Amino acid sequence: MAARLQVSPALYYCSSFLPVLSRQARPHKWIIRRFFSNLSLSRRRTALALSGQARRGFSFQEDNFASPADLYFEAPLKIVQYPDARLRVKNKRINTFDENLKKFADEMFDVMYKTDGIGLSAPQVGMNIQLMVFNPAGERGEGEEIVLVNPVVHKASKKTLLYNEGCLSFPGIYADVVRPASVKIDARDVTGARFRVNLAGLPARVFQHEFDHLQGTLFFDRMTEDVLDSIRLDLKATWIQEELLEISGCSFTGRKTQRQAAFWERIVEGN
Ligand SMILES: [Zn+2]
Repeated sequence: MAARLQVSPALYYCSSFLPVLSRQARPHKWIIRRFFSNLSLSRRRTALALSGQARRGFSFQEDNFASPADLYFEAPLKIVQYPDARLRVKNKRINTFDENLKKFADEMFDVMYKTDGIGLSAPQVGMNIQLMVFNPAGERGEGEEIVLVNPVVHKASKKTLLYNEGCLSFPGIYADVVRPASVKIDARDVTGARFRVNLAGLPARVFQHEFDHLQGTLFFDRMTEDVLDSIRLDLKATWIQEELLEISGCSFTGRKTQRQAAFWERIVEGN
């Protein structure tokens, strides 16, 4: 998720959500600590509790898991931008927790920090696997880094909130998106250990944005028509720029999916 915490669009997002934040500040460390201390507590007490509900979330057929070829990557990673087809295809679950996966997560953090993000999903670096990383502090050495593998949402609050979101795959585009205020999730960490955590505040927002990526859903899919109208020209520009790069042989976007084609109709024909 694009959350340039030092610049205005994301500051609006952060500060509107967390009243303790000043407009020049990053999320306060106590918020980060509270979030991750909850995570630690949850880890300690849910080893048994997880087995009942979480197993249902992990009982997928073998052919849904990523193969060694699916997990192969080359560093440094690069952010893929819309309308790259890899942002829309199925993302496979992971059942191999080894040094390669840890290295991949490290590389994800590297590219996330370099691009001023606070969250990043694997499909955004062209890897169609169920892994996301985030650090709401947005700075190496601050806050805490978290890796979520095969996340499953068990509960989302009825209460919803409106925030101004950005996305690293849509540089410079920010718009309002409504999402649940809090979520309860199960996931594995990069070592394969299962855990459950309740997220609220900024972590809940970042998680839901990245979780959507793992389902092939993009933030404009959740915008109202009025909000979409406000960024329609920017989206067109992104599309055209990528089209030109593809035509010139500078970008891999693959064949457009049906969903992309439908979106293109919505953007272009909708005017
Ligand atoms: Zn995104």
